[in-house]
Amino acid sequence: MSIRSKLGAGLVAIALVLLVPLFLALQSLEKLHSFTTVLQKREFAASLLLNRMRSGTDELRRLDLSLVFLHQPQIRASMDSQLTVLSATSDSLAHLGMQSASTKIGTAVAQVASFVPSEYAAAAAGQAKIADSVSTQHLIPAIAATERELTSAEGMLRDRSSRLVAEATAETEQARNAAALGLLVAATLALIISILLWRTIGGPIRDLEHGMAQMADGNFGYRLRVNARRKDEFGHLAESFGSMAHQLAALDRLKAEFVSVASHELKTPINVILGYLQLIDEGVYGTVSPKMHEIVRTLDSQTRSLSRLVHQLLDVSRFEAGGGKLDLRPTNLDAFLVELEETFRVLSMQRGIDFRVERAGALPAEVLWDPDRISEVLGNLVANAFKFTERGGSVELLVDATEEQVYLDVRDTGAGIPPQQLPHIFEKFFQADNQEAATHAGSGLGLAIARQIVVAHGGQISVESILGVGTTFHLTLPLRAGGRVHERPRTPMFGVPA
Ligand code: ADP
Repeated sequence: MSIRSKLGAGLVAIALVLLVPLFLALQSLEKLHSFTTVLQKREFAASLLLNRMRSGTDELRRLDLSLVFLHQPQIRASMDSQLTVLSATSDSLAHLGMQSASTKIGTAVAQVASFVPSEYAAAAAGQAKIADSVSTQHLIPAIAATERELTSAEGMLRDRSSRLVAEATAETEQARNAAALGLLVAATLALIISILLWRTIGGPIRDLEHGMAQMADGNFGYRLRVNARRKDEFGHLAESFGSMAHQLAALDRLKAEFVSVASHELKTPINVILGYLQLIDEGVYGTVSPKMHEIVRTLDSQTRSLSRLVHQLLDVSRFEAGGGKLDLRPTNLDAFLVELEETFRVLSMQRGIDFRVERAGALPAEVLWDPDRISEVLGNLVANAFKFTERGGSVELLVDATEEQVYLDVRDTGAGIPPQQLPHIFEKFFQADNQEAATHAGSGLGLAIARQIVVAHGGQISVESILGVGTTFHLTLPLRAGGRVHERPRTPMFGVPA
C-alpha cells in the first residue's frame, strides 16, 4: 500500500471515529428537543386551561349570588355560557393526556348545570328562600366539588411536569456522559491511528534525513535502514538514495585519485622552480641586482606556498583514496611531546610568543597511534595557533590522560574565530574571516586533514573560540587507536582561554 493511500485511509479513519461522539450528541439533543416540546405544548397548555377553569368557577360563584337576589335573565344567560365554556374546556383536557381529570371535571360541571334551572325558576317566581336553599344546598356544593376536581387535576399536572423535568435532567446527564465517553474513545483511537501513521511515515523520514546528513558529511558508505524492496514511495526513495550514494562514492574516489595524481605531478616542477630560484639568488647565473633579489624572494615565497598547498592536497587525497589507513606503532608519549616542543622552540623565540607543553598529571608511557599523522595534526594546530597570535601572546599544548584516552588541548591567545563560522571550521578549503590576523596565507585544508586523521584513530576533535580572546582545539584520542573515545566532558580540563 502506498504512503499516500495509507495517509488517506488514516485520515478518513480519524474523521469517522470522531463522528461517533458527534452522532451521540446529536441524538441526545434530539431527545432534549422533544422533551421541551412536550413541556411547552402539552403541560403549559394544560396548566393554562386549568387556570381558566378556576376563574370560571369563581365567576359561577359570583353569578349564583347575584341570581338569588336579582333574578335577572342575563345572569342566567351568563351562567349558561360560563358552564358551556367550562364543559368545552374540560373536554380539551382529554386531548392533553388528562382523560380521567377531564371526565371528572365534566361530570362535576354537568352536576352544577343541572341545578341552575330550578334555582332560576325559584328566583324568577320571587321565591327567594327556595332559590337560596337550592343555591346553598345544591349549586354551591356542586361548584365546590368542581373546584376540588380542579385542585386534584392541578396536583396531577404538577406531578407529571416534575416527572418530565426529572426525566429530561437524567437524559441530559446521560447524553453528556455518553458524549464524553464517545469523545474519549474517539480521541484515544485517533491517537493510536496517528501514532501508527507516524511510525510508518516518521521512522523512514528520520532515516532518510539522517542518511542525507551523512551524505552531506561525505560519508558515502552510509546504508539506509529503510528496505529498498518496500513497495511504497519510501522503497523508491531508498533505492534512489542507494544508487546516488554509490555514484557519489565512485565520483569521490575518482576525484581523490585525480587530485592525488595531479598534485604528485606538480611536486616535481615546483621543486625544479625552487632549485633554479635558489641558484639565481646565489648569483650562479650572473650578478643579481637588489630589485631582482626582491623579485626572486617574492617568487620563492609564493612557490613555497604553492608547494605547501600541493603537499596538503596530496595528503588529504592520499588519505581519502587509501581509505584513511594508519600506520599504528607503539609510541613513547613523552618523547613524542618533547620532540614537538623542540620543533616549535625556534619559532616561539623568533615570533616572541610564549610556548609551553604542559602535562596535567601522570601520562601513560606508551600509546598506539600513527605518530607521523598525529604529529602532523598537532603540528598543524600549533602552527595555526602561532599564525593567529600576536607577539607577546602565548600558545600552550595541555596534555592529560585517563586509563583509556588522552586529552590534548591546543590553546592560544590569538585572534579567535567568529562564532557563526565555528561549525564550518573543519570543512575542506574553509577559512574564517580572520585572515588579516594571520602571519601568512593558508589553504583551508589543515583542519580538514586533522579531523580525518583523528577520526581514523577513533578520536574526536572540537573547537572553542572567543573572538579577540583566543581559541582552544580539544583533541581526544584513545590510548590504543581503533577503539572509540567517550564523549568529552563538557568543561574543558584546563578551563577556557583567558
Ligand atoms: P589554513 O591553512 O587557512 O590555516 P586550516 O584548515 O588549518 O587552514 O584552518 C582553517 C581556518 O580556521 C583558518 O584559515 C582560520 O581562519 C581558522 N583557524 C584555524 N586555527 C585557528 C586559530 N588557532 N586561531 C584563529 N583561527 C584559526
